[in-house]
Amino acid sequence: MSLEAETKSIVAQFEYTDEDVNKGVLEFLRQMAEGLEKDGTSLSQIPTYVTAVPNGTEKGLYMAVDLGGTNFRVCSIKLNGNTTFNLAYSKVAIPKELMVAKTAQELFAFLALEIQKFLQKHHGDQFEQHVRRRLTMSSPDGYRDENAFRMGFTFSFPVKQIGINKGTLIRWTKGFDIPDAVGKDVCALLQAEIDKLHLPVKVAALVNDTVGTLMARSYTSPGKHGTMLGAIFGTGTNGAYVEKLSKIKKPLEGEYDQSTGEMVINTEWGSFDNQLNVLPNTPWDDALDKASPNPGIQMYEKRVSGMFLGEILRLVVIDLLKNPNVSFFKDENSSSNDWVSTTTIAETSDLYKQWGLDTSIMSVAAADNTPELSTLRQALESTLHVYAPAHDDAQAFKAIANAIGRRAARLSAVAIAAIVLQSGKLDDPAFQDEPIDIGVDGSLVEHYPYFRDMIYEGLRIVDGIGEEGAKRIRIGIAKDGSGVGAALIALVAAGME
Ligand code: ADP
Repeated sequence: MSLEAETKSIVAQFEYTDEDVNKGVLEFLRQMAEGLEKDGTSLSQIPTYVTAVPNGTEKGLYMAVDLGGTNFRVCSIKLNGNTTFNLAYSKVAIPKELMVAKTAQELFAFLALEIQKFLQKHHGDQFEQHVRRRLTMSSPDGYRDENAFRMGFTFSFPVKQIGINKGTLIRWTKGFDIPDAVGKDVCALLQAEIDKLHLPVKVAALVNDTVGTLMARSYTSPGKHGTMLGAIFGTGTNGAYVEKLSKIKKPLEGEYDQSTGEMVINTEWGSFDNQLNVLPNTPWDDALDKASPNPGIQMYEKRVSGMFLGEILRLVVIDLLKNPNVSFFKDENSSSNDWVSTTTIAETSDLYKQWGLDTSIMSVAAADNTPELSTLRQALESTLHVYAPAHDDAQAFKAIANAIGRRAARLSAVAIAAIVLQSGKLDDPAFQDEPIDIGVDGSLVEHYPYFRDMIYEGLRIVDGIGEEGAKRIRIGIAKDGSGVGAALIALVAAGME
């Protein structure tokens, strides 16, 4: 078989047709409803106890901290009330020994100390005033500052949220392992260490980064209605949206403000359709899953997000290299009657290593519209040590990469379309003259050329959305979700005190 024919057959396996998109949307809607009814379903549909999204007029000074993986970030955000904000920021690497400390107290004491340093550096006057005021009190240890900073705490580990500022750690991930923290309320752990230092800070909200994206976009985007969905397409993928309280059938344990009739739901859509009822499944998807640390889990994410797309492509490339019937990244010379075929890829190339192909090369491939594919060929040479790649080889690489990227974008459209349909906003008279706003964040949607265009292409063919409906959906980038978003959740929480 020629390389061209083989490439065509591979590309066809990644095709995700209009019919597939529509089937996907129906299944997504079904799994959303199931997740709103009970725990332990494919889409977790986690209630966040956030019951309103901002409209850009919010004002005040708030703090936000983010404990993600390698770094701890502290910031303060001044919301100006006109969709703009000012941000002060500091970042520190978390010492490795604290990630596996004997007690949670050691880690959280370090975090509290970083918060103190930040306050002294960026809000010195306010901090000094607080210290002086406290010392004039008859019982300084019991002193609670009315003007304490309200702080949003973005904590990117699995937690069971039981209130707007309450959540117990389910398990550590990403190299952390402090057994005595498991099952404890992480907000209370942080507050206890903040109180030991007598800092004027109240942990007001426990924040999921996707919810932060939704809030940040809602504050900064123009229009009289807030944003209805925040979505991340980066290393992983997830979405949080505004749901009607009446549709949340499973019990809500914590306290919340019922007056808005709504609550933000964290879908955890990375695990949509782990059963593979409707998700596409090529031999390469299967191989990726089997070799992953969590087979059978996060099956939607494994077809959509930045961490995995490059790996799918790498597995296809390796199969093509092994195929004796096609010439792909090979040098072929005839010497007398013998054909000598040698690969043009260095043995040390990352192409031979699991996770060795970064998704960003797919952006290079998609963006290179030169007839010679010179940028892509250069990237293949510099990042993957493929020597002097032939034009046909680069073209095959690009066609396969594009097919994987296009399938990911159309799968992204499935989640977005389902949530738009679930909201009923296309038929809501209040939205007839206003766009339905969606905030997105992450390298894939920001840097992969035409990713958003391909999402729109998917939305247009969904029954119930169509050309007209798609025009009314506005997808815009949300920046600084974990900073300004967390501050906004702290603001909502402060209103509930
Ligand atoms: P995170 O989600 O961890 O906050 P990012 O949004 O930057 O971080 O996403 C990182 C992921 O995006 C990585 O998996 C990386 O491979 C992928 N990525 C980085 N740059 C690009 C790009 N230009 N095009 C496509 N994917 C990219």
